Amino acid sequence: MRLLITFVRKYPFHTAIVLFALLLAGIAEGFGLSTMLPLLAAIAGGDLGGNSAASGGHTGNDSNLIRYVTEALGTLGLTPTVGVLLAVMVIAIVLKSIFMLWGNKRVGYTVAHVATDLRLSLLRAFLGTRWEYYLEQSVGALANAFATEAMRASQAYLCGARMAALFVQAIVYGAVALLVSWKATLASAVAGALILYGLNRLVRMARRAGGKQTELLQSSLARMTDSLQSIKPLKAMAREDLADAALESETNRLKRAPQKQVFSKEALKSLQEPMIVGFLAFGLFLATVRWAIPLASVMVLVFLLARLLRQLGKVQEQYQKMVIYESAYWSLQEKIRKAESEKETVFGEKIPSLEKHVRLDRVGFKYAESWVLKDATLEFPAGLFTAITGPSGAGKTTIADLTMGLLWPQSGMVYIDDLPLQDVDIRIWRRMIGYVPQETLLLHDTVMRNVTLGDRDLHEEDVKIALRAAGAWDFVSAMPEGMYGIVGERGGKLSGGQRQRIAIARALVHHPKLLILDEATSGLDPDSEKSICDTLARLRGRLTILAISHQPAMVDVADRAYRVQDRTASLLSKFFPKTADAPTES
Ligand code: ADP
Ligand code: MG
Repeated sequence: MRLLITFVRKYPFHTAIVLFALLLAGIAEGFGLSTMLPLLAAIAGGDLGGNSAASGGHTGNDSNLIRYVTEALGTLGLTPTVGVLLAVMVIAIVLKSIFMLWGNKRVGYTVAHVATDLRLSLLRAFLGTRWEYYLEQSVGALANAFATEAMRASQAYLCGARMAALFVQAIVYGAVALLVSWKATLASAVAGALILYGLNRLVRMARRAGGKQTELLQSSLARMTDSLQSIKPLKAMAREDLADAALESETNRLKRAPQKQVFSKEALKSLQEPMIVGFLAFGLFLATVRWAIPLASVMVLVFLLARLLRQLGKVQEQYQKMVIYESAYWSLQEKIRKAESEKETVFGEKIPSLEKHVRLDRVGFKYAESWVLKDATLEFPAGLFTAITGPSGAGKTTIADLTMGLLWPQSGMVYIDDLPLQDVDIRIWRRMIGYVPQETLLLHDTVMRNVTLGDRDLHEEDVKIALRAAGAWDFVSAMPEGMYGIVGERGGKLSGGQRQRIAIARALVHHPKLLILDEATSGLDPDSEKSICDTLARLRGRLTILAISHQPAMVDVADRAYRVQDRTASLLSKFFPKTADAPTES
């Protein structure tokens, strides 16, 4: 129920239109149905003319409906002949269908909206989160939320809308039946409530199975993506069976949820029917044998009440379906809410320029408990080439992340020139940065798109220049399709070194003011590395370079170099004299 209220609140306009269309359809159907009894009476009575047929053989409540219909037709100047009544019935049903179609078109529109809105909210919320939060997320679970959970959530809306439609119809049947015999209708309503209540267990069972399915889909997709991403070592060591075993048990557990869902759905249907028929049989017995209600009325009543009960049953079926899907909606909402609460909060507005230097001033940083950096001071002079070396795990990547404002120090401060980084508009700052990460994952797309990342302002010529600067032009132009060649899943068709060069081109294509390379050349052979070092040396002066590297070649061409170790950074001794005073542009 909470879900229905949420949907109504979120899409009030569309929901109102849907409900309005359903109401009109219901009214039209009500008119159609109300002609039934006069029609039967007219046929049975053989008398096609006017009021005499209505008051003919019937007594009590029965004549009420006939009288209303006759009066209503009378105001239109019509008499209730078989022909007129049939025509009214046909017109009413046609109208009903038109209104239903109109309403359902809206429903379809909203169903698509629900899925899209959820997907976009999820995406936006995630792209805006703090880096540390993002690191903890599972790609598979996200992909699952984006694909299946959003789809199932929108199905929940569809079921909710169908429920509303069926419910309106049930009310119409009930209202018409009420005019024929209020006692029988009331009894049916009570019976319907009892039947629904009795079968509620099956709804609960379905809800639990749906929740389980949501949970398992999420974890199994997370595991699946993880395994597939690291498939190469598994295959190389013939250990695919390990991934297989892990996935199999989860997949098998996943099997049980739909099993229960199907069972509870079918059980609901199959139990509803005999219960309804049993009740009707009993009612029919009473009506005909005990109370001797006229046949025409009994026939109409049986028709209406059978439909009323069946419709209520269908409402329950849709409700059951909705609760199966419901958990996906909440799970997705929870992810969006969590991501939004972990939003990157940066309030700075100043525009950095990077004229003098980037300076990490006595920064301290820890992830959970242990400090990665403590009182570390580094300065990257503008226009110069600074190298950082040090053992793995020493905190080199952390320094790069602090510089980019992806991580924030717990003590000390990062400055761009004299501006503290928190006063800077961080997005503008990051847009000034070209970044090449440690392990490059290319998009499964063309070289061109891997360099531009879809930025339409960048043209073939820009890409060519960037590829040349990165030393990638030779092998790219040798590819059969050149820049338009596809690089394969995560760049699998290229060598590690080639991937790295494309990543460097990607970083250079925006003409960054600060280029950060995080062990970007560690996958390269000495010759390629040398040529990239030369490229970087040539770029010096035009931009500021920060290169993290183990290789001596980088340190050799650098203007200054730090060694990061034991939670602090120290200038390599050979750079002391050169950088003791203010650095000069080369
Ligand atoms: P490196 O010098 O190899 O680039 P990093 O800066 O990546 O080292 O990591 C520094 C230390 O921080 C390492 O000891 C690593 O275990 C730890 N670390 C890195 N990322 C995280 C994280 N997301 N959560 C907790 N600890 C981390
Ligand atoms: Mg690193």
